[in-house]
Amino acid sequence: MVKMPVLFIGHGSPMNAIEENEYTASWRTLTREIPKPKAILSISAHWYTRKTRILTAEKPKMIYDMYGFPKKLYEVRYPVSGAPGWAENVKKMLDREVIEDNSWGIDHGSWAVLCKMYPAADIPVFQLSVDADSSIEEHFGLGKQLAWFREQGILIFASGNVVHNLGKIDWKMTGGYDWARQFDQYIEKSMMEHDTEAILHYADFGNAATLAVPTPEHFYPLLYAAGASDKRDRVRVYNTSCVFGSLSMTSYLLG
Ligand code: ZN
Repeated sequence: MVKMPVLFIGHGSPMNAIEENEYTASWRTLTREIPKPKAILSISAHWYTRKTRILTAEKPKMIYDMYGFPKKLYEVRYPVSGAPGWAENVKKMLDREVIEDNSWGIDHGSWAVLCKMYPAADIPVFQLSVDADSSIEEHFGLGKQLAWFREQGILIFASGNVVHNLGKIDWKMTGGYDWARQFDQYIEKSMMEHDTEAILHYADFGNAATLAVPTPEHFYPLLYAAGASDKRDRVRVYNTSCVFGSLSMTSYLLG
C-alpha cells in the first residue's frame, strides 16, 4: 500500500466550481500527483460545529452553503457515495467523542474543488466537522490522529483558506493586500520548514495575522493537514497567490 499524501486546498470562491481558471487547472494537475484514493476524508471549513461530527450516510446530501451566487452554481451536482465504514474508523481513531450527524452533507468546501479534481464523482467522500470549541493544538492533534488513514489509501483533504477575511474582500481586486501576502508567505515558509510551532503560534505574527484570520474556521483545516504530515513528507506548494484582496488560494500537498 502506498502511503497517501495529505492535501490542504485554498478553495476560494465557490464560483471555481463552474469556472475554468488557473486554480481549477492546478487542481486537475494535483489529481495526477496523488495515487487514486479509496475514499476521501474531507475536513471542510464550512462544517464548523459544536463538538466533532462525522458524516456516516451512504448517500450524503449536497449542501449549497453559499448565498447570492448565479443559479448555475446551485445546479452543480456531485453525487458521491459516502463511506460509512471508514467514518466508523474515525470514531475509533480520535480520542474524543465523535457525533454521527447526517443533518449536514457534502458542502461547497468539498464539492467546489472535488468536482474539478475528481469530476466522475466515483470516489466516496466522508466529512469530518471542525469543532469551534477546540484549541489550535487540539485541531493539530486531531490531524495527527488521522494520519493512520494515509496508510489505508485514504486521501485526507483539508479545505479552507490561509487568508480569509470576507469583511475586507474587494471583488474587483486581482491580487492581495500587503498583510494578506505577508501572512500567506509566513505560513508558506513555516509549512516548507515543517515549523509546527510557527504555525500553531500564527497569532504572534501580529496585525497581519489578525487581519488574515479574523475568524479561525478557514484556517483550522490547515492544522489537520499539518498534523497528519511529518518531517519526512515532501512539501509542494500550489496556487501561491491572493485574490480579491483578502483570500489566499495557496494550497499544500504533503507527502
Ligand atoms: Zn470557504
